Amino acid sequence: MTAIAAVPVNALSRAVAAQREELHATAARVIDSGWFVLGPETEAFEQEFAASLGVGHCVGVGNGTDALEVALVAVGVSAASTVATVANAGMYATSAILKIGAKPLFVDVDAQDLLMTAASLRAAVEGHPGPVAAVVVTHLFGQLADVAPLLALCRSIGAALIEDCAQAAGARRDGRLAGSLATIGTYSFYPTKNLAALGDGGAVVTDDPGLADRVRRLRQYGWDRKYHAVTAGGRNTRLDEIQAAVLRLRLPQLAADNAVRRSIVARYAASVPAGRRFVLSALDESFSAHLAVLSTPARAADRAHLESAGVATDVHYPIPDHRQPALALSDPPSLPVTEAAAEQVLTLPCFPQLRDDEIERVCAALRTMP
Ligand SMILES: *Cc1c(COP(=O)(O)O)cnc(C)c1O
Repeated sequence: MTAIAAVPVNALSRAVAAQREELHATAARVIDSGWFVLGPETEAFEQEFAASLGVGHCVGVGNGTDALEVALVAVGVSAASTVATVANAGMYATSAILKIGAKPLFVDVDAQDLLMTAASLRAAVEGHPGPVAAVVVTHLFGQLADVAPLLALCRSIGAALIEDCAQAAGARRDGRLAGSLATIGTYSFYPTKNLAALGDGGAVVTDDPGLADRVRRLRQYGWDRKYHAVTAGGRNTRLDEIQAAVLRLRLPQLAADNAVRRSIVARYAASVPAGRRFVLSALDESFSAHLAVLSTPARAADRAHLESAGVATDVHYPIPDHRQPALALSDPPSLPVTEAAAEQVLTLPCFPQLRDDEIERVCAALRTMP
């Protein structure tokens, strides 16, 4: 008897197989052009992506964490600053804040969707003695946070609001897309993201031409032109031409891919038995369905049950940022919702090329959770 392969959480090889010839032709076009970094493909992608979001400017950078770092510096964050963010989003924003030398102020999240809210931000800000220079809100798992009240609060305290859209490409509410809702937005095009490169990539998006110019200088040594550094804090973080060309190829199919992802999550949500378990999702376009995440008070048992049914799972994320050893906080804050959620989240298979029989296998396993 041959064992049936487990349903994988993700399978990038299937996304490649689905457009193998176009991808090869795209890479060949760039290779033959002899232009590899910050060239015509990157410029075209920046324009096409900004237009798709309805913002004035997009600046391609090396990855999503660099995008956060240069966005933070561009809005004025320095080593003396405090930046508020969540502690349940995989250390990305926290790494960028720490890299600058700034201090993270951790904000707890809503118990239903695990997102920052204006109430949770206000509580953290009011409990903090000094000013808060910026706030990073993460659209976790692809669920669009309620940005308007966060933006109002940020304006009242003089803080810039940055949307981390790495998991939310294509998520929209009232016709406005992730990355167009606050001061500035950041994207990652890491190969597992909804809009995925074949390597590292990222972008910063904004409607503010001054901020866009600053990000453009910061991504390349602080230059305003070749070998002329005018902006302090510059570095090298650039999008390369092959990745930009791949992103141009894939951008037109983002909305359809997201619709498929959402339909998968909807089937899971309908299969979870009534009780204390639930799937984190919105079934409208405000959800990019980047990850299908089950919240369960019995994670270890459910994980074992799914594994025995041939369903792979993962955990996003097992250790909240404020509990990470690298931070070495002597007096970590108390974030009860964040801490409880880290014990309860379980990621299920979800990607556009998942087969119907595989989705059904996951649904059957969910229905029979003890
Ligand atoms: C993936 C991700 C990032 C980081 O992107 P990289 O390109 O891997 O640096 C940042 N924020 C969130 C929410 C992510 O999911």
